[in-house]
Amino acid sequence: MYNQYDELEYARNIYQNGFQSNYLPTQLRLLAIYMKTELGYKPRQLRAELTAFCQDRLPGYQPAVHYPAINKALRQAGQKGASLLHIKELPIYQWELDFLTAYPLCPQEQMTAALEYNCRKLMFTLLVRTRLRRLISLQKNYGENLCLYFKGGGREYRELKQEAKLPSSQDLHSGLIYHLAAAGAVTPMHDGLLRLDFMEEADRAAECVSCSPTFEPAFSISHFNNAGWYYDYYNRLPRMKLCRHCGSPFKASGNRQLYCPGCTEEMERERWKIRARKHRGMAVPAGDSLLVPADSTTGSCHGFEITVQPPLLKGLECGTVFS
Ligand SMILES: [Zn+2]
Repeated sequence: MYNQYDELEYARNIYQNGFQSNYLPTQLRLLAIYMKTELGYKPRQLRAELTAFCQDRLPGYQPAVHYPAINKALRQAGQKGASLLHIKELPIYQWELDFLTAYPLCPQEQMTAALEYNCRKLMFTLLVRTRLRRLISLQKNYGENLCLYFKGGGREYRELKQEAKLPSSQDLHSGLIYHLAAAGAVTPMHDGLLRLDFMEEADRAAECVSCSPTFEPAFSISHFNNAGWYYDYYNRLPRMKLCRHCGSPFKASGNRQLYCPGCTEEMERERWKIRARKHRGMAVPAGDSLLVPADSTTGSCHGFEITVQPPLLKGLECGTVFS
């Protein structure tokens, strides 16, 4: 699975192994920037190398057809400050988790434990998004950008809900955001724009903590679209597991489920390909089999070595199901 925030790795992979999908524009742009920034090609050489690469590695390459796409990629690579993102993981610190746990929400009698938990999980997801945007801003030299806002819009809210892994029945606006706004954690503005007031408080808290000697991450996030599951795994919610292939936390639908939905889907595709090859009487190449668990021998947790914490939610009964 391609990590969209690690463009450097993706571009290197294209350079070494050829194009990864049929969608060319992004791949050409990343490849051109890779050749410029990592291999140090000057404009004329860059044009020659990129064209030669397409000639060799692009099936059905036709100069007249592909010229505009190559030209566009070269223009994009030539822009000032063009660079490749290289974000493999995002560290989450203990003080951030403690900050979210201790953040004063509405009095408990007005909220069920599940609602309160989902509010904090949404705050965690917003914190992850903000930290990620700040890292992007830093790597792309966008200048100082505190990213204290969540840009509204239907698509953004759908993505946020998806990343937070909230139950589909959970309404964001009249539910969680309403409560967060009442607690002063966020301020809803025009067109769905949200001001993340709690992030400002977190920044102030960070200034006090950053000089502490125990400034170690509690865990690191590398599957950014699964932020909510990291929070659930950390809080030891029932049925949370780490995927045996990619290491991402996920919510298992049964005891025997070993892989996250993304990897399960990938394995299904692999199975289908193998079946199709067998059906056509073609040999199945060795090694072209199902996904191999990345940690089948060690059973390690891919850096998600959460020192097992007591559940943060004192009031919750073990086995509470949130979705
Ligand atoms: Zn997985």
